[in-house]
Amino acid sequence: MILDVDKFMAEVMRKDPLEKEYHQSVREVMMSIAPFVEKNPQYAENKLLERMIEPERIITFRVPWIDDRGAVQVNRGWRIQFNSAIGPFKGGIRFAPDVTLDTIKFLGFEMIFKNSLTSLPLGAAKGGADFDGVGKSDSEVMRFCQSYINELHRHIGPNTDIPAGDIGVGHREIGYMYGQYKRIMDEFSGVFTGKKIGWGGSLIRPEATGYGVAYFVQCMLARKNQVLAGKRVSVSGYGNVGSYLIEKLDELGAKVVTAADPYGYIYDEEGISGEKLDYIKDLWTVYRRPIKDYADKYGVTYVEGKRPWEVPVDIAIPSSRQNELDESDAKTLIKNGVICVCEAANMPSTEGAMHLFTENKLLFAPGKAANAGGVAVSGLEMAQNAMHYSWTSEEVDEKLHGFMENIHQTCLDYGTEEDGYVNYVNGANIGGFVKVADAMIDLGV
Ligand code: GLU
Repeated sequence: MILDVDKFMAEVMRKDPLEKEYHQSVREVMMSIAPFVEKNPQYAENKLLERMIEPERIITFRVPWIDDRGAVQVNRGWRIQFNSAIGPFKGGIRFAPDVTLDTIKFLGFEMIFKNSLTSLPLGAAKGGADFDGVGKSDSEVMRFCQSYINELHRHIGPNTDIPAGDIGVGHREIGYMYGQYKRIMDEFSGVFTGKKIGWGGSLIRPEATGYGVAYFVQCMLARKNQVLAGKRVSVSGYGNVGSYLIEKLDELGAKVVTAADPYGYIYDEEGISGEKLDYIKDLWTVYRRPIKDYADKYGVTYVEGKRPWEVPVDIAIPSSRQNELDESDAKTLIKNGVICVCEAANMPSTEGAMHLFTENKLLFAPGKAANAGGVAVSGLEMAQNAMHYSWTSEEVDEKLHGFMENIHQTCLDYGTEEDGYVNYVNGANIGGFVKVADAMIDLGV
């Protein structure tokens, strides 16, 4: 056996024993890669795999700021520049109170494969801070973002490392961070993606991740001669990704019956559509309000303390955060007849849940393939900034369609098994791996 995953993982765990999410993401990739390197042994030579799991650079820094009462606060910030073999470091920034080095490391590792799958020249990075924006005033958020950039500016640049948003980082935070970068560096070169359209952003970038997931589900269903129209769908998050995902699913004729936050979920038998859709789109992204507000306003069911995966649906789309769907949720979904599970968030299914989906030969797509539309359109934003030009919504949306179809095809190419079942997990991991691995070989040690 060329790659013994247990042995390989034992070494990863020995070095960083506490990084459980990072271990989970590495193990998932290595499980897919192991049979592939058996047939293609060049990919295990010269410690290629050991090099790939080691970030090129980890930056940890202090983020001091002053709250509205004049008291000094301090948070911890990170940027992990994981892999630049195929392009400049690229990936979002997450602000959430539970963010740790472990979180950023697993997210950064996922970006290697996701960015490679887009087919664009994008390396991998991720950043973040253990900052809770909920309940903070606008000026507190601004001061925090400025302090974050006071340190980070020296490590990023339009040709070295291009951050974007993620959980807790939307237009507002990007604006404050980009504003501070511009002030310090005195240049208007882009550097961040996810900017607003008026100051260098791309049309369709806010919608891209959610829309891209819906297009990916369309591709998966089309292979089975099925369509989204008429399908019942459960969604969890309703933020940067979930809100536009719900919008596109509704437009394509599906009925989205759930939305959730960490405290509970709503069940709307009629589907989230029309005025309710407009309401939910702003509920988190603008007002930072819990999903219970939706139930109170429209008189639909609110289930406290539970996940939406107990609701019988045709398609389930976890769109919130890591490990939000576990083995027992997977069993319930399968028992209730789900035909497709597509990850919109990063690693929302636990290892056990993923195995159940693939063992049961379900249509199951991992986030690194299905949610890659966001970073792909970030790549288009970089291209437009470099050209000092902007494409129309139609042009960007058409390209997004193309990206998702391509990624789907890559998953088929690398993930189709002998009996015809498409293992999208293997397809995405191997398809993403090959390009980066080849580049690392070509570039030498
Ligand atoms: N944070 C998003 C992701 O996980 C977007 C990254 C980007 O656009 O750079 O894919």
